[in-house]
Amino acid sequence: MAAVLVTGGAGFLGSHLCDRLIARGDDVICVDNFFTGKKSNIRHLLGHPRFELIRHDIVYPLYVEAERIFNLACPASPQAYQFNPIKTIKTSTTGMINMMGLARRCNARILHASTSEVYGDPEIHPQHEDYWGHVNPIGPRSCYDEGKRIAESLMMNYRQAHGTEIRIIRIFNTYGPRMAPDDGRVVSNFIMQALRGEDLTVYGDGLQTRSFCYVDDLIEGMLRLMDQDEQIGPVNIGNPVEYTMLELAESVIRATGSTSRIAFRPLPMDDPRKRCPDISRARQWLNWAPQCSLAAGLERTIAWYREVLRQTESGSQS
Ligand code: NAD
Ligand code: UDP
Repeated sequence: MAAVLVTGGAGFLGSHLCDRLIARGDDVICVDNFFTGKKSNIRHLLGHPRFELIRHDIVYPLYVEAERIFNLACPASPQAYQFNPIKTIKTSTTGMINMMGLARRCNARILHASTSEVYGDPEIHPQHEDYWGHVNPIGPRSCYDEGKRIAESLMMNYRQAHGTEIRIIRIFNTYGPRMAPDDGRVVSNFIMQALRGEDLTVYGDGLQTRSFCYVDDLIEGMLRLMDQDEQIGPVNIGNPVEYTMLELAESVIRATGSTSRIAFRPLPMDDPRKRCPDISRARQWLNWAPQCSLAAGLERTIAWYREVLRQTESGSQS
């Protein structure tokens, strides 16, 4: 049993991580400022004797005791992280310094949720961890991309200066239940649009690619990286099967049985043209590979969104 701090614990990935940690017997301190997180994601854990919730913003110092820290606090969808870009930068810089300071004081191991966005609009394909990336430092995505890059740099420098035990995971597009229906990411948008019988909004020509990892696979990879003693990362965790956004839209229409059609919308600035993880490191270091196909993952995710819609319509969702 370990005392584990999860920042961003009321968010999509954080809440699934809290579930896994509680299930295996850890003591969990969940910290969240509820910018994009929701109480409904962790309501089932409130009152559990090994679960504690603190409403807190990591941009301000935090004094708790923990043996392990998972730092997931940061809005992840372009719509959310561009809402207040300066705040997003503060979360990944000042917030990261606070979390590294906490790890140092507690002598805790800290894992940081970095992102495939550190590769920007990549010139090499698939993306291997040795690739340094192609990021526009002054574009609309830079608050997130550069924030995550400086967070990685902070980790490496704390390790060098203070011997802090770090783990860096680079997460590629992940989806599943509890991804906020209105957060603007492609999987949630397409499923909600299909279930409501609205047009599926494909940005640009829809030929840009992403690789979609089901949340359970992602959490498994994250735990494996944290729990082993040899490697600090960075490690790509994602599903290396690549889809165009048009293919995704068609899969969602098929899986929902919707009569929705596809409508094209302008491509946002600096939208990466393609993205696919090289997961050879994760295979070799963590013996990890994704298990869930897109079809199976979509089925589970769609079932969850149907339930959200049903509760919203009956007025019971909060
Ligand atoms: P999410 O928006 O659902 O979760 C982020 C959580 O962090 C939310 O609960 C939010 O309220 C909280 N938060 C934000 N700023 C905070 C602050 N300053 N202090 C305290 N809490 C704060 O997003 P997610 O998809 O669960 O992403 C979790 C982490 O994983 C993020 O760091 C994100 O960058 C990273 N990531 C996710 C993906 C993905 O596809 N889901 C891909 C790459 C990286
Ligand atoms: N996208 C789309 N329609 C939408 C939302 C997103 O076609 O309604 C596209 C978006 O332009 C991008 C891809 O889907 O090419 C993934 O977008 P998302 O915001 O989910 O994640 P990210 O761009 O950060 O990978």
